[in-house]
Amino acid sequence: MIRIPKFIYEKMVDHAKKEWPLECCGILSGREKTVEKAYELTNEERSSVRYSMSPREQVRVFEEMEKESIDMIAVYHSHPHTIPFPSETDVKLAFYPEVASIIISLKEEQNPMVKAFQIGKEAIYLEEIEMID
Ligand SMILES: [Zn+2]
Repeated sequence: MIRIPKFIYEKMVDHAKKEWPLECCGILSGREKTVEKAYELTNEERSSVRYSMSPREQVRVFEEMEKESIDMIAVYHSHPHTIPFPSETDVKLAFYPEVASIIISLKEEQNPMVKAFQIGKEAIYLEEIEMID
C-alpha cells in the first residue's frame, strides 16, 4: 500500500490535465511508502500513448533524493485516452520494477482515475493507494 497526501494526489491529477492530450510523467519520493514529494518531469516523447522521462531531470531528482535521504516510491504517468492499466509499452519499459507505477487515467474527463501497480516480469499486481491528509 502506498500512502499519498491529498495535495500531492491532486497535484498529480492536475499535472496530467495540464499535459493532456499528451502523457505526463513524474516521480514520487518519500519514506516507507509514504509519499512526501512529487517531481514533475518532462515527457521527452511528447506522445499521447507513451512517455520517457528526461534523463537529465531524472539525474537531478536522484541527486535531490539522495541529499535528503528519501527513497523513490513510484513513477507516475498519465493515460490521456485509455484506462488506468499498464500498456504493453509500460510493461516493456518498467525500468524500476522495485518501485510502483502509478497511472492517472483521464479517459473519463470528469472522473480521473489513479491506480498503482507493481510491474514484474511475470505479472502485474495492483497496489492499494491510501489518501492521507
Ligand atoms: Zn502507460
